[in-house]
Amino acid sequence: MIIDGKQIARKLRQTIANQVVLLERKPGLAVILVGSDPASAVYVRNKGIACKEAGFYSEEINKPADISQAALLSEIERLNNDDKVDGILVQLPLPQHLDANLVIEAIHPAKDVDGFHSENIGKLMQNNAFLRPCTPKGVMTMLKTIGVDLVGKNCVVVGTSNIVGRPMAMELLNARATVTICNSKTQDLPSKLKQADIVVVAVGIAKMIQGDWIKADAIVIDVGINKLDNGRLVGDVDFESAQKVASWITPVPGGVGPMTIATLLENTLTAYEARKEK
Ligand code: NDP
Repeated sequence: MIIDGKQIARKLRQTIANQVVLLERKPGLAVILVGSDPASAVYVRNKGIACKEAGFYSEEINKPADISQAALLSEIERLNNDDKVDGILVQLPLPQHLDANLVIEAIHPAKDVDGFHSENIGKLMQNNAFLRPCTPKGVMTMLKTIGVDLVGKNCVVVGTSNIVGRPMAMELLNARATVTICNSKTQDLPSKLKQADIVVVAVGIAKMIQGDWIKADAIVIDVGINKLDNGRLVGDVDFESAQKVASWITPVPGGVGPMTIATLLENTLTAYEARKEK
């Protein structure tokens, strides 16, 4: 069966919007875009639209590609001190001359709605999470929605990035699954996948994972977004062959992608509530 990420995300956004109308102040999200990379500009625009639809206060800040590190850090500091802003996000990737780690660490952890700050990643590692990276958290919401019990399940995560693979593995471990994490040096990936009740793939190679690598009735979550020469978007999993074997599978597009944005709104609401309590 297909996991309809669009529909799950729509419901989540509606639940958030219903909560927001009851609040005394709009939760605020500020998104900084450095330069004019077209894909990043689309992501930022979509985040702004989702914010407004959910009744949030939304600020889109565009900075030139040649902005200095110091100027970017001072913009973040301004937003750290802005009471209207509960969440700050710097759209990645950044131009080469900027140090993404320094930029992420400059965001106050209480406003780090991407969940990439070392303090938030550390809390996730300790199974004491506060703001959790959006894509893996969105995957957890999907798995919960289809009613899967993760305790004791064999999970294989393919990909080890800081934004998807690593936090994804930690989310699954925190849910008491048994987790194997694979990278480009993993030997005999198909045999690892054959053991998996749940497979999460975040590699960035179109249709890399074949249906016959997957165990019968496994759940397959495809995080990859790859553009083919003909302009079509496909995942890291060969959907046609994998859907014949899997019990559940996410499509691309319409799977994990919409969950990432909905989860960003969820995180902004979490940040708002945590600041209000202080
Ligand atoms: P990165 O490019 O940062 O990392 C890729 C990972 O895949 C690395 O760990 C790499 O291993 C591993 N890898 C590469 N080749 C192989 C291979 N042959 N076998 C096994 N592992 C391999 O990945 P991201 O997490 O940033 O992105 C992955 C994909 O997810 C992209 O398509 C991206 O567009 C998409 N994405 C989608 C999102 C969404 O909302 N749906 C959000 C974020 C990303 P090694 O460490 O050895 O190099």
